[in-house]
Amino acid sequence: MIPYGKQDITQGDIDAVVEVLQSDFLTQGPKGPAFEKTVSDYCGSRHAFAVNSATSALHIACLALELGPDDYLWTTPVTFVASANCGLYCGAKVDFVDIDPATYNMSVDALERKLLEAEPKGMLPKVLVAVHLCGQPCEMERIHALSERFNFRIIEDASHAIGGRYKDEPIGNCRYSDITVFSFHPVKIVTTAEGGMALTNDDEIARRLALFRSHGITRDNEQMTKEPDGPWYYQQIELGYNYRMTELQAALGVSQMGRVDAFVFRRHQLAHRYYQALESLPITLPWQHPDSYSGLHLFVIRLKLEQIKLTHRDVFEALRAKGIGVNLHYIPVHTQPYYQATGFKADDFPEAMKYYAEAISLPMFHGMTTEQQDEVISVLKEVLQ
Ligand SMILES: *Cc1c(COP(=O)(O)O)cnc(C)c1O
Repeated sequence: MIPYGKQDITQGDIDAVVEVLQSDFLTQGPKGPAFEKTVSDYCGSRHAFAVNSATSALHIACLALELGPDDYLWTTPVTFVASANCGLYCGAKVDFVDIDPATYNMSVDALERKLLEAEPKGMLPKVLVAVHLCGQPCEMERIHALSERFNFRIIEDASHAIGGRYKDEPIGNCRYSDITVFSFHPVKIVTTAEGGMALTNDDEIARRLALFRSHGITRDNEQMTKEPDGPWYYQQIELGYNYRMTELQAALGVSQMGRVDAFVFRRHQLAHRYYQALESLPITLPWQHPDSYSGLHLFVIRLKLEQIKLTHRDVFEALRAKGIGVNLHYIPVHTQPYYQATGFKADDFPEAMKYYAEAISLPMFHGMTTEQQDEVISVLKEVLQ
């Protein structure tokens, strides 16, 4: 089976991890800060906090922005459940904004309409999670302008997008957001096995991210409520978690970050070949907004079902049966039983449902060979023609 995604591990990556195993620190040593500096230097953010997953990063991001009960978090329905669950962890209510049929990201027009409706009802969101689906950045400048008008905070869920650019600047510089989150799960662009990071330019948000990552504990005298009892002293001043990343993961991350541009470049080469080879098939190829240079975590096609004799499911099953490890990103979050139980109806977000009825993610990963890609292309042609 040709997988839809796969990590790329070199001898250099392996050596970096082994070196940590032979060192004094398996956690809370020098590699964590080194990885944070590598990513924040690359992205151009002031601060970065490595954690054990993007899910944890989203959770502490919401806490750092003081999301709580009675608040609303809004996001897109076409995302992994973690982009929404982080709001529920904080006791907040979650709502969704339908997608743009061209980019599959949150529609900024739909966002504006929903904000105008929510304002008189006193139901404006406190936090908006903008997800850069497939690695293509959302229209952040417009979203940021709406945040100033309607007074909400912005988290970029850039789990798909490290190495990508928006208006010719790196995603992760937080120019249009309070916090940007990356995932380093093995299917993503850069991996630390499990892992994530939260970036910000705001010193107060940074202080809170650091606290929530590690039990709400501080060793900084300035943050303490009284003079330390002695040199052993620390204080717990918030209710935090243990979301720390290990030194093994951070060392792998530093090593992987040396290849981030190569990773994204290779994905663009693969995408270029897909665009050329699949042009004449009854499918919609991913449209790229001129402001974006996508990280291309995913390559999603949409079937033009009225031109195909098979159903969406038939095509998916036929591809799998022929060894093509296609996938579907994502089942709209509001249709998950857990969210349905809170009152969402499938047709609340019709563009998301249309997308779900047609989308298929083709294999796309750094180590994919030309032969493997040719196999995907020829099987797809065979199934659709
Ligand atoms: C993968 C992913 C996450 C969660 O990442 P983990 O590191 O596995 O916790 C969150 N949001 C999106 C959009 C993702 O694709």
